[in-house]
Amino acid sequence: GSSVETLEFQAETRQLLRLVIHSIYSNKDIFLRELISNASDALDKLRLESLTDSGLAETDTTDLHISLEVDPDARTLTVRDNGIGMTRDDLVELIGTIAKSGTAGLLEKLKESKDAATAENLIGQFGVGFYSAFMVADKVTLCTRRAGTDSGTRWESDGEGTYELQAVDGLPTGTSVTLHLKPADSEDGLADYLSESKIRQIVKQYSDFIRWPIRMATERTGPEGEVIRETDTLNSMKALWARPRTEVTEDEYHEFYQQISHDWLAPADTIHMRAEGTFEYEALLFIPSQAPFDLFSRETKPGVQLYVKRVFIMDDCEALMPNYLRFVKGVVDAHDLSLNVSREILQHDRQIRGVRRRLVKKVLGALKDMQSKDAERYTKVWDQFGRALKEGLVEDTDNTEALLELVSAASTHDPEKTTTLREYVERMKDGQDTIYYLTGENRAMVENSPHMEAFAAKGYEVLILTDPIDEVWVDQVPAFDGHRLQSIAKGQVDLDESADGEKETDADKAQREQDFAALLPWLTTTLSEQVKQVRLSSRLTASAACIVGDAHDVTPTLEKMYRAMGQ
Ligand code: ADP
Ligand code: MG
Repeated sequence: GSSVETLEFQAETRQLLRLVIHSIYSNKDIFLRELISNASDALDKLRLESLTDSGLAETDTTDLHISLEVDPDARTLTVRDNGIGMTRDDLVELIGTIAKSGTAGLLEKLKESKDAATAENLIGQFGVGFYSAFMVADKVTLCTRRAGTDSGTRWESDGEGTYELQAVDGLPTGTSVTLHLKPADSEDGLADYLSESKIRQIVKQYSDFIRWPIRMATERTGPEGEVIRETDTLNSMKALWARPRTEVTEDEYHEFYQQISHDWLAPADTIHMRAEGTFEYEALLFIPSQAPFDLFSRETKPGVQLYVKRVFIMDDCEALMPNYLRFVKGVVDAHDLSLNVSREILQHDRQIRGVRRRLVKKVLGALKDMQSKDAERYTKVWDQFGRALKEGLVEDTDNTEALLELVSAASTHDPEKTTTLREYVERMKDGQDTIYYLTGENRAMVENSPHMEAFAAKGYEVLILTDPIDEVWVDQVPAFDGHRLQSIAKGQVDLDESADGEKETDADKAQREQDFAALLPWLTTTLSEQVKQVRLSSRLTASAACIVGDAHDVTPTLEKMYRAMGQ
């Protein structure tokens, strides 16, 4: 071979390498994800260039793939691709220096960071990429030949301060990265990366949807003790979200849904979208037909996974879906994020917030659609997730209107059927401008409440709200479609009595007040331990008396709920 040249890493690269080697990352497995993602990018580039660049006519692009090779004796793991490859200068520039802007600033902050979590966070904004190989290897050998050129280059480094370069003949097009593995050390988070099952597990977890085959030679013992050697493709490559909607069948959606949700029922709805422009992403979301048993346990997290260019980044991405939509399952694949992006960064990323806003609108829109087009299905979905959606009325004031449109509630109008607020409003009596409701433990209790009497007598519809959370959201939403929501059990509810022509005249009222002038203060004093005040009411028709709360009082149901929660 030709002579070996020793070059120094750029100072900043050296610092970054030191940080990587001395493991700011707790999760070492991600090195494979990084190398596979680079290989996949290299295959993409070759395919693209081969379409436009006649200089690549000689290059074989018929079997683009990634292969993983294990050599137990040498203790090496190699990630090989037959993609675009690099020239010597590419190597110096791309691997020897960090061309990315902001490196210096990042390193400054890293030095100041006190704990691993902060460091990991900072690095997440940046991405260590190729250098993550040094978390698991004490030496890395990279051989590469750029497509369309004749000579290849061998690059080698222990990640300390220098790397070696050497021109090599006879290399295939593409790149191989060989890791001389450190010994497995579970305390250090170093698994046995020579183990076939470990490699399979990492590929399945992080790289299953990479669009190129990831192959590995495997060996197993057959029924007669013979050794069977096969080449396996480790990834499924089925990233449904990246395909046009028209090319995905309903069955494929269901199968994918089952894979990510472990739910054997078909989803109630599927949302598949693609956003183009400054921040590109694809989203494939599902509204399940049944709530998981733990929907209301404290630990339940949003069910959306984050991918970056088909590489799995994280489960339960709370930055992409608000808590009240935690029942939505699916995948978001964002194209322009670092693979190392952390939860903390995502929470504060302006663009991710934009994505989330859009996804929420999509989900609420899909539910609204279902409500108008397939009421029966919607009713089932509401039964399962209505309570969670009502949390949205408390948490997500940006979408109050959309959420109120979705509310389904029992009502005095029809004992068999629930109503939407919109339907309620359409049935309101002339002159009625308030939506009336009464909360309570169950329908029978609410219906038999003395508060109901006057409303029933006058034919006003009252919503019957029996979910503990109802007490919370009705207090928070100002109005629906301009109509205030008003509890008939709180404060002074003035029925518009002119509607049925029985309005008490001022003289009648004065007379009545005089009749009871002695009784009321006496009752108030006698019951002072139980009530604040006793007053005359026009609400009752059959009962002699009823207890009402102040407009801002905690209701009995809520009181019970708070007590149950130990508050
Ligand atoms: P990133 O992938 O975010 O650019 P990396 O550190 O992972 O950062 O890689 C740095 C660069 O090295 C890549 O952008 C690419 O140009 C080059 N590179 C790395 N691996 C390969 C490969 N297998 N084939 C071709 N080029 C590669
Ligand atoms: Mg990379």
